[in-house]
Amino acid sequence: AAAPAHNGSDLFVVNSPNVAYSEDVIKSTYTYQSTKVTKTADAKYVAQPVETKYDFKVERKVGKVGLMLVGWGGNNGSTVTAGIIANRRGLTWESREGIKKSNYFGSVVMASTIKLGNDAETGEEIFIPLHDILPMVHPNDLVLGGWDINSMNLADAMDRAGVLEPDLKRQVREEMKQFQPLPSIYYPDFIAANQEGRANNLLSGSKQEHLEKIRKDIRDFKQTNSLDKVVVLWTANTERYAELIPGVNDTSDNLLSAIKSGHDEVSPSTIFAVASILEGVPFVNGSPQNTLVPGAIQLAEQHKAFIGGDDFKSGQTKMKSALVDFLVNAGIKLTSIASFNFLGNNDGLNLNAPQQFRSKEISKSNVVDDMVAANTILYEKDEHPDHTVVIKYMPAVGDHKRAMDEYYGEIFMGGHQSISMTNICEDSLLASPLIIDLAVLAELMTRISWKAASTQEGVSTKEYKGFHSVLSILSYMLKAPCTPPGTPVINSLYKQRAAMTNIFRACVGLAPESDMTLEHKLF
Ligand code: NAD
Repeated sequence: AAAPAHNGSDLFVVNSPNVAYSEDVIKSTYTYQSTKVTKTADAKYVAQPVETKYDFKVERKVGKVGLMLVGWGGNNGSTVTAGIIANRRGLTWESREGIKKSNYFGSVVMASTIKLGNDAETGEEIFIPLHDILPMVHPNDLVLGGWDINSMNLADAMDRAGVLEPDLKRQVREEMKQFQPLPSIYYPDFIAANQEGRANNLLSGSKQEHLEKIRKDIRDFKQTNSLDKVVVLWTANTERYAELIPGVNDTSDNLLSAIKSGHDEVSPSTIFAVASILEGVPFVNGSPQNTLVPGAIQLAEQHKAFIGGDDFKSGQTKMKSALVDFLVNAGIKLTSIASFNFLGNNDGLNLNAPQQFRSKEISKSNVVDDMVAANTILYEKDEHPDHTVVIKYMPAVGDHKRAMDEYYGEIFMGGHQSISMTNICEDSLLASPLIIDLAVLAELMTRISWKAASTQEGVSTKEYKGFHSVLSILSYMLKAPCTPPGTPVINSLYKQRAAMTNIFRACVGLAPESDMTLEHKLF
């Protein structure tokens, strides 16, 4: 069954009775194996393998996709825009180390591979780009737009950010100059007072009018650029937490009424989330604040719209979610983590204010919880390693954030292991590929549907439906992953990646990558 021409990959086809390709869709039947555990009276376990048969359907036509960034004129917004233009045009530029070429390094979708299988003759492992496992939009084809409370065009914003090399900036300047952020929502109480000077591109009117204007902006952007889809992503300043108040943001109806009545505790980012949900476009929150209040999550569920968050996982936390997984799974009892950050970009300036810092502190603090809770040999119930996060504004280092961590743990017979690391993160160059991944994957998730053909309990669903509105499949890119209400948060980087790649494999009827490699062990 040769794959017909379509947007996205045709690098491979799956030859299996469980997979069918048509012009428009890929359909697979997939047996999901899990294990149900019951406790016995004498405190032992009975583990019972369970099988559920799912049907997955992936629409093959990707169409034309737009990405609207809130905070477009910021360091991330301007860097990701210039980076996509440079890639699209295949630019090269001179740096003091020689000629550099455009690439998508740091994007798990564009620059990492997954194992497809083993060569039928030689047994060699065959790897393919993750981007080719299912039809996905190519970032070069994304149409970019967005909002900022600062009116600066993207060329000047790129200069202000101080991230990219002069010879690269020179080559994209003309194109970047054409980009002008749309006026945005500014409620001064939500971001640091030190941002006030930037606020010169603002929407007037009430909260309800703001909501309607943002919805119209999304529709207009879609129409003007003849787009099939739009994704909205918040990469604006970190806001303070919105207070969760019964009757205000706890249910979808209350949230909509609170916007109508202009309640103080509805943040700009929540208005953007609500506007996106009501327009049926995926919304992703790249900052740490609690944009996705319970009312917003409920609204997304009701509208079957997709949301994801919170906070890009780019530098220190990405290391943490890999390292803690390693330590705890190696049987080493991590007893403390001290994390220091110094940064000199506008994000750092904003985070210098206590309430905005608090949002970041919360987001950075919970990342070890699930890994620690999973090991009852090392940790008593509710026991946690000490964990401190410090963030300081240091103008001189600009976008080159310093993240310094000390991991301290207990090893065999009362010994200790200390690991100290300094991670110099070029912040926006780490975050930009994550923005791309989040946009590409959020769009992909709008084209995947499933039904349960059978479960052991005899439950089945007849009609195809989408994944849950809260896209926890995006967790790999996010520091404090938002998950469907009542479901566990997984922070381990390896598990997050495996969940993503194995779900995509299932959509083309391939078994999860188990890494057993029995073919190399049993002969
Ligand atoms: P930045 O300060 O350079 O950019 C933020 C932009 O948002 C600014 O241009 C500002 O004018 C604009 N803005 C503020 N409020 C707005 C609103 N209501 N509507 C529209 N625009 C608004 O910051 P950055 O370095 O690009 O980071 C952006 C966000 O991403 C921050 O919240 C940061 O904490 C988060 N983040 C960044 C990284 C990273 O860069 N590695 C990692 C995790 C999270």
